[in-house]
Amino acid sequence: MYPKIELHVHLEGTVRPETLLEIARRNDVVLPAETPGELQRLFQFTDLTHFIDVWFLVTAALQTADDFRQITVDYAEEAARHGAVYIEGIFAPTVPSRNGIELEALFEGYCDGVQEASERLGVEVRLTPDLNRTSPPEEAADIVRRAIACRDRGVVGIGLGGVEDLAPPEQFADAFRLAREGGLGSVPHAGEVVGPASIWGALEALHADRIRHGIRAVDDPALLRELADRGTVLDVCPTANVRVGAVRSYDVHPLPEMVAAGLRCSLSTDDPAMFGIDLTSEYAEAAARGLSPREFYEVAVDGALCDEPTRGALRAIGEDFDWSSAESTPISR
Ligand SMILES: [Zn+2]
Repeated sequence: MYPKIELHVHLEGTVRPETLLEIARRNDVVLPAETPGELQRLFQFTDLTHFIDVWFLVTAALQTADDFRQITVDYAEEAARHGAVYIEGIFAPTVPSRNGIELEALFEGYCDGVQEASERLGVEVRLTPDLNRTSPPEEAADIVRRAIACRDRGVVGIGLGGVEDLAPPEQFADAFRLAREGGLGSVPHAGEVVGPASIWGALEALHADRIRHGIRAVDDPALLRELADRGTVLDVCPTANVRVGAVRSYDVHPLPEMVAAGLRCSLSTDDPAMFGIDLTSEYAEAAARGLSPREFYEVAVDGALCDEPTRGALRAIGEDFDWSSAESTPISR
């Protein structure tokens, strides 16, 4: 098993069905599914908007600081079994906060999870909370200020998530400026379903350090050149794109074309529990198409928002590993 770095994973979307139902029960939250099988049926998504609707419906089960701590540690443990040594976990504060969950408790729970994952499991987790595209400026600024306050507990960046065509990146320029001034990186979602304009907006208005998805860059040769020249890392999640209908099938996914065009791509699962996948299966799909696990690792080392000592440690893990076995033998599924 070779080492992996995952830069694009929503912690709420990592909760396996049994655990999600158990947490819902303990919080007295009624979900539209009572068994893991029913939950799985709910996870047959028709498009990105449907996926996001279901996502907020089921993640409403998560309510307490301890829930957020638990799902962070649980995923660190799961990902480590698949070789992960570093994870940048995303979480979405907007909707829970509107439902009355205090931002402070929410952030503290996730940050406690980061600490426990490091101390107990030796897995480095960093956090990049997502602003939601429905957020008015004041709500977005509150989340950014809370994120900045948690920098010493593992929060390293701010993202932007939700239904892409609801709001262009430009609308969040002020919130991202506040984040950057507070020392946070910029890691918005862009270009999964909306075209190149959303990626240009993420680069120019949000000064993106990385782009989450960015697959529609292949529709614009000038954008491909720009991303290649800048060396911007794109956190690509091919199976997720297929499962929400953004790409018709894995065989026509633009990832190989992006890599061939000189784009720097990392590989992630996005929402592994909701898509019924894991890091091993995601890498196996990519490796089966000739893409290099070692290159994904090295790109992710460069793109990670961690401090330099951590980056040095991650680079050493990659350099010390004998990749010849990973590159030359088929990966077990
Ligand atoms: Zn995502």
